[in-house]
Amino acid sequence: MKNKHHQRALLWTALDEKKLRCELCAHYCVIADGKKGLCKERQNDDGVLFSLNYGRLIAANIDPIEKKPLYHFLPGSKSFSIASPGCNLRCAWCQNWDISQANERNDPSRLEFISADRLFTSILRSKAKSIAYTYTEPTVFFEYTLEVSRMAHESGIKNVYVSNGYMSSQMLDLYLPYLDAANIDIKAFDNSVYRKYTGAGLQVVLDNCKRLKNAGVWLEITTLLVPGVNDDEAQVRGLAEFIASELGVETPWHLSRFFPQRQFDQIEATAIESIHQAMEIGKSAGLKYIYAGNMSGSADTHCPNCDTTLIIRDRILLQENRIQNGACPSCGQKIAGIW
Ligand code: SF4
Repeated sequence: MKNKHHQRALLWTALDEKKLRCELCAHYCVIADGKKGLCKERQNDDGVLFSLNYGRLIAANIDPIEKKPLYHFLPGSKSFSIASPGCNLRCAWCQNWDISQANERNDPSRLEFISADRLFTSILRSKAKSIAYTYTEPTVFFEYTLEVSRMAHESGIKNVYVSNGYMSSQMLDLYLPYLDAANIDIKAFDNSVYRKYTGAGLQVVLDNCKRLKNAGVWLEITTLLVPGVNDDEAQVRGLAEFIASELGVETPWHLSRFFPQRQFDQIEATAIESIHQAMEIGKSAGLKYIYAGNMSGSADTHCPNCDTTLIIRDRILLQENRIQNGACPSCGQKIAGIW
């Protein structure tokens, strides 16, 4: 199984009979010799765990940071964005199914190996202010992200995770010193919905969001509103109140429209009215920065004190940033974020 680029994995414990337990994400897969974990990107070879997608990039782009989306973190800057194939969740509506779920086309062994050093040379040349580990689930190519993140910090470049938030506490122990910002996708606010549609549990995601916040990571939350799945008032209100009370009312919340996907095409696109209703619920919970995604409008930042328009965006493109020294130029209100 092994080839010269398979990387011995971090975060696992040997069990008896050459079995092992992977401790990278909250699935904590017990993997028999010769088998792979649930994400299909980590394999037990003779009692040792290997990362199969280490250094195998399926996407690399220079994106506006707003595309992550992060609206209060170095606005208007470029983020060098990379992904290896794989995910530890199975969301029925996944927008990146082709690269997030193991299949023949994205078999890591068919992708060119790019060492962390080689990638980092390109990152430096790009003059990007941050590196985003994104598109798929960065947790499942953690070893590579850790290596690149260490280099980034030595060069003053920030690290960004765009993640489902289902990492293990052990992974966060190792990675938090290197993580500067994250957008966590909270997919629903009902554990049975989470289990049914993603294969993961809600509480781990909520606990990890709290941990990121408490560790000083700049955090924004995204929720894709899927009609009939997570758009009922109880879930939207529950999630809004969780963000307000546990993560803080200054945590930006991105409410995105769902569009039918190949894997989930029996459901209609989210009505614009549903997004607006959810935004109102968020406001009534006290949230100060709520944005609409996958649609035009409702992408600008306003001062929560005097309502002056502070950042004008055309969808994910920054048009104008009027924030001065982290504050509203009209009333002096401090605006939460990394400016
Ligand atoms: S990363 Fe998660 S899903 Fe993948 S093998 Fe490890 S515990 Fe299982």
